[in-house]
Amino acid sequence: MSDQHDFNNINKLLAYDREHLWHPYTSITKALPVFPVQSAQGVRIQLSDGRTLIDGMASWWSAIHGYGHPRLVAALQEQAAELSHVMFGGLTHKPAVALAETLIEMTPPGLEKVFLADSGSVSVEVAMKMAMQYQHARGKKEKKKFLTIKSGYHGDTFHAMAVCDPVTGMHQIYSGVLPQFYFAESPQTRFHEQWNPDDITSLQVLLETHRNDLCAIILEPIVQGAGGMRFYHPQYLREVRMLCDAHDVLLIADEIATGFGRTGQLFACNHAGIVPDIMCLGKALTGGCMTLAAVLTNEDVEQTISSAPPGVFMHGPTFMGNPLACRVARESLTLLQESSWQANVQRVEKGLERGLAVCQEMRGVADVRVLGAIGVVEMRNSVVLEKIQQDFVDRGVWVRPFGKLVYVMPPFCMNDADLATLTAVIADVVALHGKN
Ligand code: PMP
Repeated sequence: MSDQHDFNNINKLLAYDREHLWHPYTSITKALPVFPVQSAQGVRIQLSDGRTLIDGMASWWSAIHGYGHPRLVAALQEQAAELSHVMFGGLTHKPAVALAETLIEMTPPGLEKVFLADSGSVSVEVAMKMAMQYQHARGKKEKKKFLTIKSGYHGDTFHAMAVCDPVTGMHQIYSGVLPQFYFAESPQTRFHEQWNPDDITSLQVLLETHRNDLCAIILEPIVQGAGGMRFYHPQYLREVRMLCDAHDVLLIADEIATGFGRTGQLFACNHAGIVPDIMCLGKALTGGCMTLAAVLTNEDVEQTISSAPPGVFMHGPTFMGNPLACRVARESLTLLQESSWQANVQRVEKGLERGLAVCQEMRGVADVRVLGAIGVVEMRNSVVLEKIQQDFVDRGVWVRPFGKLVYVMPPFCMNDADLATLTAVIADVVALHGKN
């Protein structure tokens, strides 16, 4: 290996990264700083220069058990020795079947048909195709449109982008290519507030107007994530469920961020006691170890799709049902069920409430909100990512804000002392940046 490619030399690694690699939502030419990671254990990320950071992000909602959990590591090692991958066309295996069983047991009743996909965005594409094929199979070929709510985020592939917020999403860049769908006003009644029945009017009007060409409603239940980190009232979901039934429209719940306990319920739909027709899961599914997503639906949707030409569901990725991902997912879900996750999430919720309350009074802060193991400080102005990120790292925590949002979703196992440190640093840094 040439000296130039000795990536044990951190400066060379960084230089090569800077020259050649895209990171999420970045430019290579105008690269933002990146921090080389050596390892991660529990709730700590260790940088290559020896510094250790308390992790507030759980790698974007996914590492719910922290990093390097021995049971997840063992599951991966054992599975790698047995079978890393084999095509899922015409073959099957225990990791996929066992995972499907666990998912069916955990999710709301009736969701019993499982499609294993590669990532959250792909699962959204799969869910939307499922809904379209369902309507097509019923002879309702005109029902091809989707309705969603503003401030939503569903991923970066084309149909997923088409249901992201039309202003903050990527609609303008891809206009003319992205399909045009319907957007209701986002719900305004907050999770803990008194329900305001007017909140549903916008969606109701759109649904009634377009029922004949509407295939499905897709939304993030309770928590709108990357589109604004907003927490809305469970009654909104109940109303949506009733309206979907009344107007012959399917309901797709994108639980990619909210699934597996993050909001204090196993699934955010459970806050409202509703069951969607199609549910997308991802992120925490594998405890953050591998990329994997799942789409669950009911017997009606599955049988209807099978009842009309082409008689099959038209999707089948190369890495479908990857045994490594499925095995570690099942272990992660078993671990979750065996743990006192609900008590832990409540404890994290209390810790975030306690630690972030002080931000409420700060000049630069517009709002502070906490739900389950999610804490959000919304600033009045957008933060300068490069500067704020560096300030967090210098103070020993990993938090990655976007826009006006400084937010955390720590691993459920974070102890009270680390939570206190994490929130104290957030308060400190927010105070500093709120002055600008
Ligand atoms: N839906 C939601 C609600 C998400 O939060 C995300 C990821 N931020 C996605 C879909 C897309 O998932 P992925 O990044 O795995 O494609």
